[in-house]
Amino acid sequence: MPELPEVETVKRGLEEFIINENIKKVYLSKLSLRFPWPKDFISKVVGKKIISIKRRAKYIIIGLSDNYSIIAHLGMSGSYKVLKKSEEQDYAILKHDHLIFDLDNFKIVYNDPRRFGYIDLTNQEPETHKFLSSLGPEPLSNYFNADDIAKTLFNRSKPIKNLLLDQNIVSGLGNIYVCEALFRSKINPKKNCSKLVTSKGKPRKDLILLVQKINEVIKEAIEVGGSSLRDFSNINGKMGYFQSSFNVYNRENEKCLLDCCDGVIKRIIQSGRSTFFCSKCQK
Ligand SMILES: [Zn+2]
Repeated sequence: MPELPEVETVKRGLEEFIINENIKKVYLSKLSLRFPWPKDFISKVVGKKIISIKRRAKYIIIGLSDNYSIIAHLGMSGSYKVLKKSEEQDYAILKHDHLIFDLDNFKIVYNDPRRFGYIDLTNQEPETHKFLSSLGPEPLSNYFNADDIAKTLFNRSKPIKNLLLDQNIVSGLGNIYVCEALFRSKINPKKNCSKLVTSKGKPRKDLILLVQKINEVIKEAIEVGGSSLRDFSNINGKMGYFQSSFNVYNRENEKCLLDCCDGVIKRIIQSGRSTFFCSKCQK
């Protein structure tokens, strides 16, 4: 499932091609994505110019002329590919292609086998849209800091892993990067979040470290994703993933990668999701 770094990679990939392009034609498949297609989507976007592309959490926001914005989420399995004008003549719509934008010089194809992705169109300020308005602070931004997270966690009582997956507490993180950041911070995913905050609502040392490690792992993953951008316009273009650098994710029963630790990576289920961690060095 794409998380913040993968969505950032997709955003940067699209940015190279779509800015200042006009939307000439739109194809929508008969199947809807997670939600029905926005009302009158085609007639509202055809003729508009693409003027910006941004990312907020796991959403891509495409700004159009006349103050319209497309807000898109990749769900579990969504991906975009970009075809150049010369390639697009031969392009036959594939199974799971659900949305295609014909631009001046490119064709943008959205493919989503599981159809958990979704899209909306608004002519209001995107940040006020229901998808975005309650999102928590963005990693790597000034709004994401240990003092503010401590205030959010204060008086709560839940495993830290579950809270980090809550998009209203910190936005953009998913299972992979939460597991990896907790490992790097040596925090047990089952640890009650109240233990990371003092009785006065201040961050303890391990919470300060956790915030640092979240930023670190997200930054590294964006850099890895960015390095695969060269192939982005390829018809089979895949998103860059951070796989080769996973310390715990998908490593059940394998040895902990820390030299000083002889632990083994365990997998447990928390709120229906797999958690991978080293029970020896994550206390
Ligand atoms: Zn370990």
